[in-house]
Amino acid sequence: MAGILRKVLQWALEHASNRKQFGMNLTEFGLIKEKIARTSVAVYAMESMAYLTAGTLDSLEDPDCSVEAAIVKVFSSEAAWKYGSECLQIMGGLGYMKSYPYERLLRDARILLIFEGTNEILRMFIALNGLQHAGNELKEMVKKLRNPLMNPGFILGKGLEKYRHTKDNPKLDLKLNEYLHPSLKLGSDALEYCVKRFQYAVEVCLSRHGI
Ligand SMILES: Cc1cc2nc3c(=O)[nH]c(=O)nc-3n(C[C@H](O)[C@H](O)[C@H](O)COP(=O)(O)OP(=O)(O)OC[C@H]3O[C@@H](n4cnc5c(N)ncnc54)[C@H](O)[C@@H]3O)c2cc1C
Repeated sequence: MAGILRKVLQWALEHASNRKQFGMNLTEFGLIKEKIARTSVAVYAMESMAYLTAGTLDSLEDPDCSVEAAIVKVFSSEAAWKYGSECLQIMGGLGYMKSYPYERLLRDARILLIFEGTNEILRMFIALNGLQHAGNELKEMVKKLRNPLMNPGFILGKGLEKYRHTKDNPKLDLKLNEYLHPSLKLGSDALEYCVKRFQYAVEVCLSRHGI
């Protein structure tokens, strides 16, 4: 999938660098630049995810990377479909024509959302598998949450946490940025926010429905 997208991007870039509209190359228009930038980021992310997962498979004795593989598949198939379409868009009307390779590549990218496990089924697999692991880790916590009268102090702390979450303002105390270059602070805060929101969603799910 990363290979398809990298190739299509390369062709679209060649076209955009030569095609003139309104006296300028397409590459000089902000909206076209954005398509090129976002597609490049997607290719980089897809390749990185694949290398990371393949590296884990290679380096561990008895690896179970089924969740990671499912995540790579969902992300990459959707990126190939979405950004393959953006590359076709850069080509304008030519991209739609059968004599150019884009419509074929887009059609090939479309099936990737369906086979090797449809993305709907894989999304459920990722979520349920993740919950299963979290369930084991959070067993004690869930027991306390389901018995508030026996654990008032704990419930009070959780209540404050819940208040912050209802305001969409989780406490960012993982300090991820301490492990990264200062220029990445914005990104690490965004990641930490997502981790905290995800953690809260898992806890709500498990306390509501049990483990
Ligand atoms: C070109 C091609 C090659 C293929 N090659 C292979 C192969 O080599 N090996 C192989 O094993 N299979 C192969 N397949 C089959 C492919 O894996 C299946 O098409 C795919 O798994 C989807 O199954 P289905 O077509 O029966 O769709 P269905 O199971 O009928 O699903 C239809 C839709 O409903 C959704 N859906 C189903 N259940 C749920 C649910 N519980 N919750 C939410 N949504 C749901 C699906 O995600 C999908 O969007 C191939 C298919 C094609 C088109």
